[in-house]
Amino acid sequence: MESENKHKEFMKEAIRLSCENIKTGGGPFGAVVVRNNEIIARGVNRVTRDNDPTAHAEVNAIREAAKALNSFNLSGCVIYSSCEPCPMCLAAIYWARISRIYYGNTKQDAARINFDDAFFYDELMSQPQDRNVIATPLLSEEAQKAFVMWMDYDDRTIY
Ligand SMILES: [Zn+2]
Repeated sequence: MESENKHKEFMKEAIRLSCENIKTGGGPFGAVVVRNNEIIARGVNRVTRDNDPTAHAEVNAIREAAKALNSFNLSGCVIYSSCEPCPMCLAAIYWARISRIYYGNTKQDAARINFDDAFFYDELMSQPQDRNVIATPLLSEEAQKAFVMWMDYDDRTIY
């Protein structure tokens, strides 16, 4: 029961951030990263303010959390987002090895206020050549060089 209340408390903070952010010119999104029942990072959407299309609340919260922990690996952390993560943020969450996601609004809710997350999810289900943004392999053999070098490099940091 207590932990249920904790989850709600963290989500309330993400929602508070999402509301606050509107007043300072950002999109209506907020997120917090929690470790050992403590908020270690907060993020809000700064896309229009920073002219950074990747500056979503979750990505910003992940960057802050990684800085706070001085690590690129956030395993054991939980993210609370005021909205279901878009595919970019979902992938960032996986890259960060975050262990659990809680979200407030759904991607359908976001689509209703003209944020394209639902469309992006549909695109991911299509083959690369069938997407609106066509993806074409090019110089694949030459590009392999770096992968071979990587595998031969003894001091590589696996992540
Ligand atoms: Zn996102």
